[in-house]
Amino acid sequence: TEACLSAIEEAGALNAYVHKTPESALEQARAADARIKAGDAPAMCGIPMGIKDLFCTRGVASQAASRILEGFRPEYESTVTGQLFDAGAVMLGKLNMDEFAMGSSNETSTYGNAVNPWRRGNDDAQLTPGGSSGGSAAAVAADLCLAATGTDTGGSIRQPAAFTGITGIKPTYGRCSRWGIVAFASSLDQAGPMTKDVRDAAIVLQAMCGHDPKDSTSADLPVPDFEAMLTGDIRGKTIGIPREYHMDGMPDEIEALWAKGREMLADAGAKIVDISLPHTKYALPAYYVIAPAEASSNLARYDGVRYGHRATLASGEGINDMYEKTRAEGFGPEVQRRVMVGTYVLSAGFYDAYYNRARKVRTLIKKDFEDVFAAGVDAILTPATPSAAFGLGEMKDADPVQMYLNDVFTVTVNLAGLPGVSVPAGLDKQGLPLGLQLIGRPWEEGDLLNTAYALE
Ligand code: GLN
Repeated sequence: TEACLSAIEEAGALNAYVHKTPESALEQARAADARIKAGDAPAMCGIPMGIKDLFCTRGVASQAASRILEGFRPEYESTVTGQLFDAGAVMLGKLNMDEFAMGSSNETSTYGNAVNPWRRGNDDAQLTPGGSSGGSAAAVAADLCLAATGTDTGGSIRQPAAFTGITGIKPTYGRCSRWGIVAFASSLDQAGPMTKDVRDAAIVLQAMCGHDPKDSTSADLPVPDFEAMLTGDIRGKTIGIPREYHMDGMPDEIEALWAKGREMLADAGAKIVDISLPHTKYALPAYYVIAPAEASSNLARYDGVRYGHRATLASGEGINDMYEKTRAEGFGPEVQRRVMVGTYVLSAGFYDAYYNRARKVRTLIKKDFEDVFAAGVDAILTPATPSAAFGLGEMKDADPVQMYLNDVFTVTVNLAGLPGVSVPAGLDKQGLPLGLQLIGRPWEEGDLLNTAYALE
C-alpha cells in the first residue's frame, strides 16, 4: 500500500486517481496485516486497489466523473466494493473515467482525461488509455495499484484493457451486483476486474461476484473457484472465429494478431472453427439506441434536488429553471447528447421505430450466440478493438459516431449478456499493446479465463 501511494504521487501527470484516500488506505492495510497475522487471510487481504469513480464508496466522493455529482458522498457502500473490503482489499482512491461511463477515450471526464502510460515509439504524444474505465486501466498499467474495478456497458473494461496491455473481464450479466454502482444502461452494465494478468483477474473476480438480494437481476448461482480452474488445459475445446468480425478497412496488424491468437489456441490443442454471427452489423446501432434510452431514464434523477450540483437561480426563476440550468451546467456535451437521443427514441411516435426495433435486433444478436454455443462452440475469439490506443485530442473534431466505432467488437457481448475477456496479445509496429477478446457461454467465466490463460 505504501509503495502504491508513493507511486501515485510520482505519477500525478497520468491523472488516473481523481480522489485519493491515503489515510483510510493505511488504516485498511494495517487491519489486513492484523488479519494475516491472525491467520484469517482471504486471497484479497491487503491487496491495494483503485476503485472506478462510478462505484459508491461510503463517505468518499463518488462522482461518476460528472460535475452534477460534485460534493456527493454516499451514505452507503456498493455491494461489489463492500465485498472486496470484507475480503481485506485496500482502497487507494477513486479512478478517473468518462462521465457516467459514456465514452471510449476518457475525454468526457469532468476531471480531464487520464493518460495512457504507453507511448508510440519515441514519440512523446500522449495517448488515450481508452474508456470509459481509462483511469483504472492507466493505474493498473503504471503500477499505481495491483488491481482495479471497472464497469462495462459496451466495452468499457475490455477496450481500455486492450489499450494499456492489461487483462479485463466483463462477467455474465447478473454475476456482479449492480447495487451502489451509478447506473448508465441498467440492462447492459456489469462490473469486473482490471488486472495485470488472468490469474489476478480470477482472484479479484471471485471476490466481486455473488448473489445480492438488493439487485433483482443478480443471479442466485454458486460462484466457482475461478483460480482453481486455471489449468491451462484447453485440449478438445472448440473455438469459433466469427466471419462477420473481419471488418472492412481493419488494419493488417489486427488481422495478424487475430491469426496469431488462433494459432496459439490451436497449438494448445483447441479445435478452431469458422462460425457466423449474422446480425453482428446491427449491434452498434442497436446499442446506441438502447444504451442512451436507458441512460436518459436513469439520469432523470439528477435534478439539482437530490444530489450534488445545483445551479444558482436569478430572482423570479422557478423550479423548472432550476432543473434546466442544473442539468445544462452539470452534464457535459456527450451526456447531454445521450439524454437527447435516448429521450427521442423513447418518445411516443418513435418508440416502435427505434427503441422496440433495437430490442428485437438485440434478441436476434443473442440468438446468434445461442446458436453457435448450441452447435458446440465453447468460446469465440475476436480482436478486442479495431486499433491500438489513439492520440488524446485526435478525435476532438470527429463525428461522434467515429468514437462509437471503437466498440464494434465489444457491444455484442453486452447486448447478449455474455462474459467477455480482453487479454494482452502483443505489440503493434509502434510498440503499442493490442488485445484479443474471448467471448464465453453464460456463467462460464472459469472456463473462459482458462482459455484466456492459454493465450498469455
Ligand atoms: N464506449 C461505450 C459508450 O460510450 C461503452 C461505454 C461503457 O461500456 N461504459 O457507451
